[in-house]
Amino acid sequence: MASRSHAQAKLNTVVEVIGEGLDSEVCSIYLLREGMLELFATRGLDQDAVHVTRMALGEGLVGTIAENVETLNLAEAAAHPDFSYRPETGEDKFHSFAGVPIVRRERAIGVLSVQHVDPRRYDEVEIEALQTVAMVLAELIDNAGLVDEEDSLGLPAALTGPEQLRGLTLVKGLASGNAVFHQPRVNIEHVMAEDTEAERQRVYLAFDKMREQIDRMASQAEFGVGGEHEEVLQTYKMFAYDEGWARRINEAIDSGLTAEAAIERVQQRTRMRMREIDDPLLADRMHDLEDLSNRLLRIVSGQLGTAASMGLRNDAILIARNLGPAELLEYDRRRLKGVILEEGSLTSHVVIVARAMGIPVLGRVRGLRLLVREGDHLLLDCEQGFAIVRPAPGMVEAYDARFAKSRERQAAYAALRDVEPFTRDGTRITVMINAGLRDDIPNLSLTGADGIGLFRTEFQFLVAATLPARERQTRLYRDVIDAAGDKPVVFRTVDIGGDKVLPYLRHDDGDGEDNPAMGWRALRLALERDGLLKVQARALIEASAGRTLNVMFPMVSEPWEFDAAKEVFDSQLAFLKKQKKHLPEAIRYGVMLEVPSLAEQLDILAPRLSFLSIGTNDLTQFLFAADRSNPKLAERYDWLSPSILRFLKRVLGSLEGCDLDVTVCGEMGGRQLEALALIGLGLRRLSITPAAVGPIKELVRKIDVNEISQAMSGWLASPPPDLRAALLQWAGDRGITFE
Ligand code: PEP
Ligand code: MG
Repeated sequence: MASRSHAQAKLNTVVEVIGEGLDSEVCSIYLLREGMLELFATRGLDQDAVHVTRMALGEGLVGTIAENVETLNLAEAAAHPDFSYRPETGEDKFHSFAGVPIVRRERAIGVLSVQHVDPRRYDEVEIEALQTVAMVLAELIDNAGLVDEEDSLGLPAALTGPEQLRGLTLVKGLASGNAVFHQPRVNIEHVMAEDTEAERQRVYLAFDKMREQIDRMASQAEFGVGGEHEEVLQTYKMFAYDEGWARRINEAIDSGLTAEAAIERVQQRTRMRMREIDDPLLADRMHDLEDLSNRLLRIVSGQLGTAASMGLRNDAILIARNLGPAELLEYDRRRLKGVILEEGSLTSHVVIVARAMGIPVLGRVRGLRLLVREGDHLLLDCEQGFAIVRPAPGMVEAYDARFAKSRERQAAYAALRDVEPFTRDGTRITVMINAGLRDDIPNLSLTGADGIGLFRTEFQFLVAATLPARERQTRLYRDVIDAAGDKPVVFRTVDIGGDKVLPYLRHDDGDGEDNPAMGWRALRLALERDGLLKVQARALIEASAGRTLNVMFPMVSEPWEFDAAKEVFDSQLAFLKKQKKHLPEAIRYGVMLEVPSLAEQLDILAPRLSFLSIGTNDLTQFLFAADRSNPKLAERYDWLSPSILRFLKRVLGSLEGCDLDVTVCGEMGGRQLEALALIGLGLRRLSITPAAVGPIKELVRKIDVNEISQAMSGWLASPPPDLRAALLQWAGDRGITFE
């Protein structure tokens, strides 16, 4: 292999060496070219057939091996139902046949086969030798460019046709693109080892590291939900410590492979074995082992990066089990068209970020990573809650038609840009947007919203590799204020923690928390790390010179926390005043109501506030004791539950007579039916995701505030069994329809 001869000459040599080594009259190599498997080299078959004999995928034994990416080992080739006789090869005298796929990136790019006059099945060690040679060949073929990249599309049979994946719509929209795995498969550069002992050492260390990771995951999960989650981890642990697995990898290294190739080799073999056992339970476990094997590969190869670090080349649909918001933000917005997750929930921050970016997200898709392959074409329909993998042409046409319709709808919403949202009976509803990044700024003028009701300042921290310096913070805030002009911007001080983890800012013990949503996050963290808050206060004050600064504190649970945070701003203000800096004209302070305990002390705090913003995302998670990021709870509780609506009503009641702006800035306010309920409760200000501004304005124009208030009072006094259904019916009776 290392010789400098031409690739074709190497293939000719390989078939000779293998044929001799396995005592087989025939050894042949078929490679995929222009969609057909072409005989590239042979010993024993007629040489005139080389580059002449061609077979389609699925045709004959060779085609079957390639299509199914499986090994065949037959004593009597002609007895196999897929056998197809090719007279030009002169193969009629050979009885036994064994063939293995030559695999590159999980797809067959060719087949290596041996044939023998006597009818005999090949031994397992012989088959393994063939599989190892096939791996080496894959590298040679790839390096020599013998098959085109587009040709290597031989998918396993189960993954060739269209497939519908059902899920839960987390962000509405339509998208088309190619599947990109967030955790991409490792590219194996070298197959043959130069120093076997060194490779053994590498695998040894990688195993140690992987076991450590799994142990850590398992020990953290002990306090978690248990059940299914724990079972999976137990299986992971079992595989991670499986001596048989480690031994097989070592044996593969002994045969001359690199650590990466040995792991891949064993993975391939297990995959092939498992495919023969038709058991869904085992298939699930197989998935775990694949996951672990990939983890080991990533560790050993040092290719730890995600697909984001490699950049997206085409329109992409991102595939992942789950993602953090920072991970999503690493992707190129122009190319990222959609996201499909195995987990996910409506108010997890990754979903909020995707919503702000206008990227449709389908969540809770079971078995996702087994059904989709890297590069597969995907149509994502997050209006009806499904995706189609490898769609047939008719499906693409139907999708295109729907896409055009959706564009028309968007255009109709865009036309409402300059229309002020008054209800039918003349009440002005304030509709603002939520934002957090520089890229979000244009949304203000695109939607014609009344301002930015929630600027999540932590997003700048999430996308940075290190803590953003004060100057950078100031610049961003000033740019946002400038772009907003006369419209208000409410800056929320950093809400780090929970599912917004900063690798460079961890809790002192560095171990993560068992319950991060209720942990050291938001204002709790900011007050302890008051250096962080001081810097932010100064940046906000300086950026608002000559204007009104609106500051809001997140996760305030008791009034003193507000006082302590305001104190940080006051002292910065005093300092800047002494420095004779140009100061803001006014500073308005507000808090988020997200922790129910604060509701019980609002009367105490309200006189010190200029505004209050209700963060229904966190508020509902705390009211229901239901983790907003837990996919199992994603559909459990309804925002239109009497518990939430009565709670909100009580809060509004307790604020009567106070001169306070009250806004809802959770995801709830951006949904038409929920917004109708909120207006019915008496709320007049919403801060929502930009894509929802059009639909909400349209809704507002159809509402009669008196009517909905009365209806809502009735429902809250004696709640119907299904408040959502009642509200929908009520709206339908009045000709109010929903998207
Ligand atoms: C909320 O909790 O409702 C909110 C708006 O804040 P975040 O989603 O950023 O936690
Ligand atoms: Mg919140």
